[in-house]
Amino acid sequence: MVKLTKAIFDKIIEDSKNAYPHECCGALLGNADGDEKSVSTARLLQNMNKERAADRYEIDPAELLKVEKEGAKEGLDVVGFYHSHPDHPSKPSGFDRERAWPDYSYIIVAVAGGTEVEAESWTFTEMDAPFEVEEIKITD
Ligand SMILES: [Zn+2]
Repeated sequence: MVKLTKAIFDKIIEDSKNAYPHECCGALLGNADGDEKSVSTARLLQNMNKERAADRYEIDPAELLKVEKEGAKEGLDVVGFYHSHPDHPSKPSGFDRERAWPDYSYIIVAVAGGTEVEAESWTFTEMDAPFEVEEIKITD
């Protein structure tokens, strides 16, 4: 389960709409307790993939490291990532799975036509296991 406030969830949706027709990507910072993750901040990152920005994202490792360091100062870890799928369902692609690490939450926001949105979160525990959908719990 991944828990986030309505304000953070809305920001993720806004980032996804703003990036349309390109993919946005960002990091989720918070704390994990077993498979329950609480997100305290969602940080938009630059999508480095310019050639295929409509269907792939690439995070700048240096930018991510900077965000990780800033989070660590406040006692926050990177617990997951979010990205958008312009005009595609909120299911992870093969490419998404290849690039993913176990135990992180991967929130995918489908943005149809720049306005209709649907979000799902995906996770897996074993390196060779498939992605499974996990509950997104929105708190106040
Ligand atoms: Zn994707």
